[in-house]
Amino acid sequence: MRKNIVAGNWKMNNDLSQTESLLADLKNQTKTSNAEVLVAPTFTNLYHAYEALRTTDIEVAAQNMHFAENGAYTGEISASMLKSIGVTTVILGHSERREYFNETDELLAKKVDAALVNDMTVIFCFGEELTDRKSGNQENIVDGQIKNGLFHLPATAFKNIILAYEPVWAIGTGETASPEQAQDMHAFIRKTLANKYGNDLADSVSILYGGSCKPGNAQEIFSKPDVDGGLIGGAALKAEDFFAIVNAF
Ligand code: 13P
Repeated sequence: MRKNIVAGNWKMNNDLSQTESLLADLKNQTKTSNAEVLVAPTFTNLYHAYEALRTTDIEVAAQNMHFAENGAYTGEISASMLKSIGVTTVILGHSERREYFNETDELLAKKVDAALVNDMTVIFCFGEELTDRKSGNQENIVDGQIKNGLFHLPATAFKNIILAYEPVWAIGTGETASPEQAQDMHAFIRKTLANKYGNDLADSVSILYGGSCKPGNAQEIFSKPDVDGGLIGGAALKAEDFFAIVNAF
């Protein structure tokens, strides 16, 4: 059975003292659901977060990494560096990385490979823009992003892959995909996986929804059969809100 997962993507928010107070608040929350919980702070706070949460069952993930092991890549961070501080999960392919940092499907495929070679878990993000949705092209876009980023992988690699469908028009906008829109796309994603790798694999991969997911809408979205959790932005910056979402299963 696939896992339920709720991951908080803190994006470029929280300096050290803000991070410390959010970590302390997170430690005071009570989990009543079966969801696995992750948070992804900025690089500067990653080790601190890892140390603070190592006695809890909240895992710490990175928001990005480079594909090279080391060398002349000023400003970049490698998989082995993340692993050396205890971080074994990385978010790749977020629409903000694709849009503002020109991360292409081809580059992302290399990053995915580097993470998997290092036995890391990848939360692989994708999703269509508003113009794609308006023109009814959303499935083609998502299909291409998944195939180009992941379909070079052998089936065995998918035990380390979590998918995150994040329609760009719903990120940080307050406009959530309806539970039906999320379900339709998640079912399409699972069918795409099944066509390539078979039903058993498709049924085993967790597919998270992201985009203005909040305490008030999480339960309805998570109740859909192909939605296995959420990748949460804004609402992950308050521990109470985040755990209201964690406990929405
Ligand atoms: P919001 O929850 O702020 O819309 O962000 C979603 C997101 O991009 C998570 O990665």
